[in-house]
Amino acid sequence: MKIGQDLHIHSHHSFDSACATLSNIRLDHEAMGIRHYAVTDHLNTRYSISDIESCRHDFLRGNFPPNFHFGVEAAITAAWESERIAAGDYAAAGDVPITGFRMDERPFDGRMCIALEEEDIRKYGIELVVAGVHWPLGFPATRAGVLDNYFQQQIFLANHPLVHVIAHPWESLGHAAGDWFHHRDKQHIDWSVFRDIPQEMDDKLGEAMLKNGKFAEINIGFMTGVPEEVMRLRMERCCRWRDAGVKFTCGSDQHSEHPNQERFRQMELILDEYGFSEEDFALPPSLNTTAG
Ligand SMILES: [Zn+2]
Ligand SMILES: [Zn+2]
Repeated sequence: MKIGQDLHIHSHHSFDSACATLSNIRLDHEAMGIRHYAVTDHLNTRYSISDIESCRHDFLRGNFPPNFHFGVEAAITAAWESERIAAGDYAAAGDVPITGFRMDERPFDGRMCIALEEEDIRKYGIELVVAGVHWPLGFPATRAGVLDNYFQQQIFLANHPLVHVIAHPWESLGHAAGDWFHHRDKQHIDWSVFRDIPQEMDDKLGEAMLKNGKFAEINIGFMTGVPEEVMRLRMERCCRWRDAGVKFTCGSDQHSEHPNQERFRQMELILDEYGFSEEDFALPPSLNTTAG
């Protein structure tokens, strides 16, 4: 199949290493024949709302065609992190809470949030909210604890009224299980954890997405360039969700100056192998497609 959408792209307005300009995102995706594409810069905490604002200004100035959509990518933090940021309780320590307070080891109390507010949707003309789990909340001590933590976070997103797409489901789990967040090296990614995701959790997540009209993301960045077994486990999960009726979006998660076309081709071959077709992908109804 031909991938017709890229609904997960970072521009240079994202805080991390992303470096594409909006103009290049347009030119590159037009050249690749992608019918719908969206910029989705990171909004991990309220501290970074200015990144979304500057991206929006840039987007409006670009006078882009209607099949270039404006979105954000939200992450989850514990509610106490957002309360601390709202209270300005970080400036004295010189913290820059772009990703919250990741090294604060207080236990997870079950309360979580995304940084996006309903008012932002109107204010910034946001058509699309992709949201995913990027890290464990607290530092669960056991593998079962990590799995449960990720499950809780993803169920939270699948029930969140502002979220349209569950980005890269489970896909940073290996980092969480390997304690990457303390060590930040390849030795601390535990790929074997993907064998241990209980099917019951997957089924419940699929049910929640279906019930709430959320889309599951095929994330090209996370699906290619990983150990073959991990890709297979991920695709088998997507097949179960597809067979249960879940619809998908596709996103490159591009952070580079230009898209990696080789990875698009690899992804298309993988999708063919697992029997995916254009009908398994859809556009969230929040996208303005009247003129696209
Ligand atoms: Zn992400
Ligand atoms: Zn992303």
